[in-house]
Amino acid sequence: MIPRLKPTIGLKEFLAAVQPPRKDDVMRFERSFAELMGQKYALAFPYGRTGLMFLLEALGLEGKEIICPAYTCVVVPHAIMYSSNKPVFIDCEADGFNMDLNIAEQAINEKTGAIIATSLFGYPVNLDQLYEIRKRHPHIFIIQDCAHSFAAKWNGKPVQKEGIAAIFGLNISKILNSIFGGMITTDNEDIYQKLKTIRDQKLNKPNWNKSFRRILYFLAVYPAFWGPVYGLINRMERSGLLNYFVRYYDESEIDMPVDYMEGMCGVEARVGKANIDRYEMIINNRRKVAKYYFKHLGDKSDFKLPPEIEGATYSHYVVQVADREKWLKRAIRRGIQLGWLIEYNIPEMVPYGQSKREDSPFAAYYARTTINLPTWGGAKLGSKIILKLHEPYF
Ligand SMILES: *Cc1c(COP(=O)(O)O)cnc(C)c1O
Repeated sequence: MIPRLKPTIGLKEFLAAVQPPRKDDVMRFERSFAELMGQKYALAFPYGRTGLMFLLEALGLEGKEIICPAYTCVVVPHAIMYSSNKPVFIDCEADGFNMDLNIAEQAINEKTGAIIATSLFGYPVNLDQLYEIRKRHPHIFIIQDCAHSFAAKWNGKPVQKEGIAAIFGLNISKILNSIFGGMITTDNEDIYQKLKTIRDQKLNKPNWNKSFRRILYFLAVYPAFWGPVYGLINRMERSGLLNYFVRYYDESEIDMPVDYMEGMCGVEARVGKANIDRYEMIINNRRKVAKYYFKHLGDKSDFKLPPEIEGATYSHYVVQVADREKWLKRAIRRGIQLGWLIEYNIPEMVPYGQSKREDSPFAAYYARTTINLPTWGGAKLGSKIILKLHEPYF
């Protein structure tokens, strides 16, 4: 079974995980991460969402409206709610997955505190347009959500630099991973100091129990993505047996993981730091496999291909199909697990249900039609998948 995602972890990460702990493990990871992103400061958190929640507090935002995409990871509005602010959802562009910045600008009023600009699926946010918005509304903070981007570039400019701060998610489904974890980067010393103070006051020090749980999880993940084992896992996942492990949100509630207030632990930081060295290779692989798909999927008329954009990092390669269920099932029979991200339009979800579907028609449409092809393995993986997709019956 070819898995829909696969963390790039190997012997290096394994050795880093079992190494004896050092007091400055987390700081060393932060320094390497800041350097990789070309930013002055980086601060580690147990999850990206915990970081976002504290960042809004560090920016002095409370009771504000925070503009964010309708089509993004649902943990983002959850973090906004947990920080005592209110999300305002904006539809996607007509010809891309990112938030429509024209609509976002229209939504600005005196209650607006920040705009969360997300480079969804690794497609860089339009920094020129964002710059214009910043000029016209200088009191509003721009936060870059780089959980899918990891240094996607708009006309050569890395997106994470163009705002007050950037957030990253680092679980095993992300471009880089530290088992779980999240990071905030910034060039602003004042924000860095405030955020660090809040974090160090509010987060519990990770204890042995957490480190132990993380090591166990890592040891389980390590072999899990190996083809034959993954086939079994996939069957368990589909039968609902694995829901406990793969579920990252609850449709009906605004909630956080039980350990969202326990700081990042040393083992996570060591794995993350080891993973950083693979960044170039990981991004190159993703660009190569995307290029391969663009070239060879063009003749599959069932698929509407995504935009091809220079500087994108392709956390996901997302095509649109009329009948998603059918494609997911067909692919499984061919030994390929396709993803179905992002399968919801947040304003339609129960806890945010005050909005109507018509408010974000593009997000609603994408939520029903997108499937993602695996991007973790370079052109070789691409050719294998294309071959299978072209087998008769497809
Ligand atoms: C993963 C992700 C985050 C952060 O997720 P955590 O699980 O809290 O680390 C934020 N935004 C987007 C778009 C994501 O995909």
